[in-house]
Amino acid sequence: MLDIQKIRADFPILSEKVNGKPLVYFDNGATSQKPQVVIDAIAKYYQEINANIHRGVHTLSQLATDAYEISRVKIQHHINAKFSHEVLFTSGTTHGINLVTNGFASILKPGDEVMVSSLEHHSNIVPWQMLCEKTGATLKVIPMNEEGELIIEAYDALLSEKTKVVTVNHISNALGIINPIKYMIEKAHAVGAAVLIDGAQAVPHLKPDVQDLDCDFYAFSGHKMCGPTGTGILYGKEEWLNKLPPYQGGGEMIKEVTFEKTTYADLPHKFEAGTPNIAGGIVLGTAVDYLNHIGFHNIHQHETHLLQHATKRLLEIEGLKIYGTGKNKASVISFNIDGIHPYDIGSIIDKLGIAVRTGHHCAQPIMNFFCIPGTIRASFSFYNTKEEIDIMVEAIKKAKAMLS
Ligand SMILES: *Cc1c(COP(=O)(O)O)cnc(C)c1O
Repeated sequence: MLDIQKIRADFPILSEKVNGKPLVYFDNGATSQKPQVVIDAIAKYYQEINANIHRGVHTLSQLATDAYEISRVKIQHHINAKFSHEVLFTSGTTHGINLVTNGFASILKPGDEVMVSSLEHHSNIVPWQMLCEKTGATLKVIPMNEEGELIIEAYDALLSEKTKVVTVNHISNALGIINPIKYMIEKAHAVGAAVLIDGAQAVPHLKPDVQDLDCDFYAFSGHKMCGPTGTGILYGKEEWLNKLPPYQGGGEMIKEVTFEKTTYADLPHKFEAGTPNIAGGIVLGTAVDYLNHIGFHNIHQHETHLLQHATKRLLEIEGLKIYGTGKNKASVISFNIDGIHPYDIGSIIDKLGIAVRTGHHCAQPIMNFFCIPGTIRASFSFYNTKEEIDIMVEAIKKAKAMLS
C-alpha cells in the first residue's frame, strides 16, 4: 500500500491554500502537479549543463546531448518500444497527432477512409478533419452507447479495405472510459489500416506496452504525467516513420542541404527540426522515473479505491447523474446535477479550494451525444485521498443547496 501522506509531501503545491482553503486538486485530467524532484531537475539542468544539443563539440553540449538521449532511452524502455529512434520528442499530444496527420496527407487519396471514435478529444478530431479536407478522404465515426462505451460491433462493420487509418484514445478524457484498443488495433490491421492511439489520459494511470498493443503510433503529453509542460512523445513504428515525410523543415533534421536538394537525417532527427525543449525532454525522464518508483500497480490500486469511493459518495446526492458508466474506467468522473449548470457548481466549490474542470472538456461531440452543455469532471491522481473526496462531496451538497 502507498504511503499517501509521504507522497503528498513530494508535491509542494498540495500544501498550498487556494482562496484561503487547503487545495483539493481534482483537475489532474487537464494537467498533473509536479513533484519536487521534477522541479529541481529543471533548475539543475539550467544551473549545470545548459547548452544546445547535437551541435557543439564542447563539453556542456555533450553533457546536454547525453542527458537528452538517456531520457529518450528511458522512455523507450518505459513504453517498451523496440528502438529508441521510434521515440520522438514533441511538445505534447497535439503536436504528435499533427505530425502524423501531416505525414498522411501525402499517402491518402479520395475514396480512402479515416476512422475516428466518437469519444475523442478535439485534438484527435480536428487534425484528421483537416487531413480529409486536404486529401478528399472520408471521415467515419465509431459510435458510442449510453454508457459512454464505443459500440464495437459498429466498429467492426465500418472497417473495410477502404479504411487507411483508425484513431482512438486509450482512455477518454471526458468520461474516463478505457477503450478496448488491443482488439481494435488487431481488427484495423486485418484490413491493412494503420492505428494511432491517443494516450494522453492513459500514461498517468498505466504503463503502455506499444509492442504488445502493436499500435503504429502512440502519442502522449508529459505534463499530465508529472512532467513539464511543452513536452510529449510520439512513438511510431520504424517502418511508418521511414514512410512518412518530415513534419517541419529546419536545423537538426537534415543530412545535407543544397539549394538543389536536401536530404533528411535518419530517425529520430528527421522529425525533430530546430532546438527542442531540451530541459523538458530531460526532465520528462525524471518524471517517468518518479512514477515508476511509486509503481503503476500501486497507482492503479489506489486510484481504483478513489474511483469507487467517489462514485458511491457522489451518488448519495439527489439528482446527480454520472456520465460514462461503462465497466472499464480510469479514475475520472464526469457528472451533472439536475437543473444546475456545471459552471455554477464549479465556481462555488472553487471558493472552497476545490479544483475541478467544468465544460465540454474539449470533447463537444460527447456532450452533444448526451444533449448537455458540459459536465463537472473530477479526475483523481495517486496523490489524492478519500478525505479530499469527502470534502468535495460536502462542498457540492452545499453548492446544490445554494443553487436550488
Ligand atoms: C489532454 C489531451 C490531449 C491534448 O494534449 P495536449 O497536451 O494539450 O497536447 C489530447 N487527447 C486527450 C485524450 C487529452 O486528454
